[in-house]
Amino acid sequence: MIDPFGRTVSYLRVSVTDRCDFRCVYCMAEDMSFLPKDELLSLEEMERLCAAFIRLGVTKLRLTGGEPLVRRNVMSLIEGLGQYLGHGLEELTLTTNGSQLAKHAQALAAAGVKRINVSLDTLDAQKFSQITRWGRLPQVLDGIAAAQAAGLRIKINMVALKGVNDGEFDAMLAWCGARGLDLCLIETMPMGEVTHREETHLPLSGVRADLARRWTLRPSDYATGGPARYVTVEETGGKLGFITPLSHNFCEACNRVRLTCTGTLYMCLGQEDAVDLRKPLRASADDAALESAIHRGIAAKPKGHDFVIGRTAVPRHMSVTGG
Ligand code: SAM
Repeated sequence: MIDPFGRTVSYLRVSVTDRCDFRCVYCMAEDMSFLPKDELLSLEEMERLCAAFIRLGVTKLRLTGGEPLVRRNVMSLIEGLGQYLGHGLEELTLTTNGSQLAKHAQALAAAGVKRINVSLDTLDAQKFSQITRWGRLPQVLDGIAAAQAAGLRIKINMVALKGVNDGEFDAMLAWCGARGLDLCLIETMPMGEVTHREETHLPLSGVRADLARRWTLRPSDYATGGPARYVTVEETGGKLGFITPLSHNFCEACNRVRLTCTGTLYMCLGQEDAVDLRKPLRASADDAALESAIHRGIAAKPKGHDFVIGRTAVPRHMSVTGG
């Protein structure tokens, strides 16, 4: 699948649910309304959609949300998708808040998942509860420990928030380094209406320069197929990534498209262009119409997002498209 700008699309991110057991302040409003259950694709339909994408050239699948591990029976989807590893699919992974990891880590590893991203913005229990509104830090730390015990490699995703966790980058880097976890810092993106996003936005260029005063950051060509740019931290041997959609746009190398839990394909996180795949999926047991709808989407992939701080780029929250 090659888009009009010559970019090969080989990475599909699937939001398996828009629901989440946390309400992170920069991600969701406090009183979110969620999709009615009958609008959701079934797990079997999601697997069929993913299989079509794999046939058309997707080699990397990431399940996200909402919180992927709160969708009922999600392990059956993950086990089903695991069967495609080595048969077109090269990597199956997920992004999770870690709350359900203690329960699912062993099964994830058994299904062929090798590495996962866990979102963790602070190591301070009280601050963690403030940021996530509903989360409890010990539960997430237990989940991370269980995932490591199951042999999963972990990258911690930390959204950089001015005045909230900007005094904790050194501590997080050291904590990750001591546990063999990679760390990725993320700039807040203006998606969906939430309060205080503007005040807490922190450009990562300054954070990186500041960290370089105390840590030896060696440029690295390590890449995971996602948008992060990495350095190696000499003192810990770990990787440190930066996702900078605002201070340094990375769209020229975009290889991704995103599927929502209702079967809408978004070709860009920060644009409204979308194609409905649910209708052709349900219209026929044969995948011809579905495949042509996917190709229509790829042919309409926009050049990039136009994120500007202070202006909400798209009305949908990150939990709809999947972060
Ligand atoms: N629930 C899972 C989790 O917490 O990782 C997966 C979905 S969550 C939307 C995926 C990632 O997006 C998390 O790392 C979260 O911190 C990040 N995120 C959510 N809203 C964001 C925003 N407006 N800007 C930047 N990152 C955001």
